[in-house]
Amino acid sequence: MNEIKIVADLHVHTISSGHAYSTVAEIIEVAAQKGLEAVAFTDHGPAMPGGPHRYHFGNLYILPEKEKNVEILRGVEANIIDKDGSLDLPVQCLRLLDIVWAGLHIPCFQPSTRNINTKALLNALDNPYVDGIVHPGNPDFPIDETALVQAAAKKGKLLEINNSSFIARRGSKTGCREIARLASRYGAPVALNSDAHLAREVGCNEESLALAVESGISSEQIINSNLELLKDFLQKRGKKRFLRR
Ligand SMILES: [Zn+2]
Ligand SMILES: [Zn+2]
Repeated sequence: MNEIKIVADLHVHTISSGHAYSTVAEIIEVAAQKGLEAVAFTDHGPAMPGGPHRYHFGNLYILPEKEKNVEILRGVEANIIDKDGSLDLPVQCLRLLDIVWAGLHIPCFQPSTRNINTKALLNALDNPYVDGIVHPGNPDFPIDETALVQAAAKKGKLLEINNSSFIARRGSKTGCREIARLASRYGAPVALNSDAHLAREVGCNEESLALAVESGISSEQIINSNLELLKDFLQKRGKKRFLRR
């Protein structure tokens, strides 16, 4: 029986992503029903085919900060588009958001050598607006896991254990397990997210939580296992909304 509870889902897609099927209202409804304390709307960046224009992100401030007792975070799952770690969203948008994820996706970044894939992620982590890396265990993009986890630990940035990886990204378990093992060893902060593309998936974290626990990751390392921990993290990351608390 594991005692860690995930109170926030920090990676969720709405219909704005083009290949996800639920609205903001439907997602908040499910989050509230499941007793989540926070949910982050993190649609794909503009380089994803069918993804939103950058104006989508510039206008996210109109979402309420809290609804049905669920804190609403405005975010993005930005695409890394080159080995320099460039993102598909300008700084003017990134600086407005509560949470910025960066990740490698095939339509936006052709899988390359282990060295180049790793460089792309490390360079993205160097971007001051990037809070963490999504699904680093993806087998489509072989990486130097140790280098990534050490960099994340040093910078205090998040590595995601993505619950959908075990379903949508075949063969992810080995990479995810390695990331989790190294995160436990080097003390990198992690987030356990659903990556929901349908409202009913919001808050699903059974497999990622089991993997985190079996890898020896502590609850203090799991940023979304406690709302105060999450808010402290976002405050330390300099997010405007949490600075004025
Ligand atoms: Zn997607
Ligand atoms: Zn996603």
